[in-house]
Amino acid sequence: MKRKLLFSSLLIAVTSASALAQQEGDTAMLRKIRDEGLNHSKVMETAFYLTDVAGPRLAGSPGLKRAQDWAVNQLKTWGLVNAAREPWGKFGKGWEVQKNYAAITVPYYHAIIAIPKAWTPGTNGEVSGDVVLLKIDTVADFDQYKGKLAGKIVMFESTMKLPEGTRPDLTRYTDEELDKMENATRPPAGGARNAVNRRMSAFMRLRALRNATYEFLEQEHVALVLSQARGTDGTVFTTNGASYADTAKSVPPELETSGEDYQRIQRLVKAGIPVKMEADIKTQFFTGDLQGYDVVAEIPGTDKKLKDQLVIIGGHLDSWHAATGATDNAAGSAVMMETMRILKAINFKPKRTLRICLWSSEEQGLFGSRFYVLNHFGDPKTMELKPGQAKVSAYYNLDNGTGKIRGIYLQGDSAARPIFKQWLAGFKDLGAGTVTISNTGGTDHLSFDAVGIPGFQFIQDPMDYGTRTHHSNQDTYDRLSE
Ligand SMILES: [Zn+2]
Repeated sequence: MKRKLLFSSLLIAVTSASALAQQEGDTAMLRKIRDEGLNHSKVMETAFYLTDVAGPRLAGSPGLKRAQDWAVNQLKTWGLVNAAREPWGKFGKGWEVQKNYAAITVPYYHAIIAIPKAWTPGTNGEVSGDVVLLKIDTVADFDQYKGKLAGKIVMFESTMKLPEGTRPDLTRYTDEELDKMENATRPPAGGARNAVNRRMSAFMRLRALRNATYEFLEQEHVALVLSQARGTDGTVFTTNGASYADTAKSVPPELETSGEDYQRIQRLVKAGIPVKMEADIKTQFFTGDLQGYDVVAEIPGTDKKLKDQLVIIGGHLDSWHAATGATDNAAGSAVMMETMRILKAINFKPKRTLRICLWSSEEQGLFGSRFYVLNHFGDPKTMELKPGQAKVSAYYNLDNGTGKIRGIYLQGDSAARPIFKQWLAGFKDLGAGTVTISNTGGTDHLSFDAVGIPGFQFIQDPMDYGTRTHHSNQDTYDRLSE
């Protein structure tokens, strides 16, 4: 079952091509696209360069720059024009892990699975010390620890249970689930707002306590903070531990620790058995260039009247730092690059210009696409639009992991349903046919939708995205389904 990424490129190549050449020649073109994609695919080679070769691609990191430079060069090699890293505005500091070691040394030796939180400092050489379990529910709890934490390795009492694995990691959509999506009616807008507001205020209270706690720990000169990561079986879902802003306050070094290791240490300390640890973490900040960049490249349109118009495809190239961001989102980036490669390889001459954009800083708030849209098409806050806005027919995004494409989300745009039904008709044999009125959020098509450019994201089989790979230390090339 190694067909998913490869097939996705075919579908998007056809989707992009269909937008331009609806009438005669569609069948022949479809046959050429299928042949190039199925028999001469380069998608896994592209994925290899974006993951294993480039490494982790956190926003602003050297790894992301390596991947961007490679992508620009590769797109040029395939014959695309105007290929470049395009600055979109100020992002903030780059950051990477250069050394990461931590182990229990008492009551016995055991190296733990743990990842530095993004944008946290290192330990400034090797540190060792007693592990102290903190119980902090309010700022009043700081008092009992004052003056006692210097050089200690601290952790917070965690009630996070490791769930028993009663369900398979890896799933695909069943026919029934796809039918349900197809038959969905539009969800009422703003229905759950009160619940969201309640959750938000609880979250803000927690965040205020968290900020105060970290400030306290920094003042007390703790050697290292351990926190329990979400995830089981050695999987660590990573997050950031400090802001990427160049003005961010300093925080203590912090390791997001696998559930099994965290719970073992906690059980020992709670039982009154002393635990000592040693650690050596080195992280590096990069402040030389605070700009964020997107990769862009084009296949120019050939129709005199239509070549100024655009069809844009893309996905975000940045990732988290604990692995090589294979499913999030080297997969989507590789598929979109392969889409362009296929169209060049079969010498497709589009009427409109086709543009590929590989975004950055998606993981911090869709910044790469939002600022690109702001720079080229308009401001969603004022709805002041630039002339370029009217020239974009549609934007297609791919960012839901390695699962094969099963259809497309209409984002409430019912007028697009017959168009997509027609395009997908040629892919029934490959399992894609569902067109749902539903929205899917959380990624870069929203930036286009926000200024009135139809932005779409495809339905993909979930695979082990939610359970295993999304933002985790397991998001490696091995998780990709060709
Ligand atoms: Zn993503």
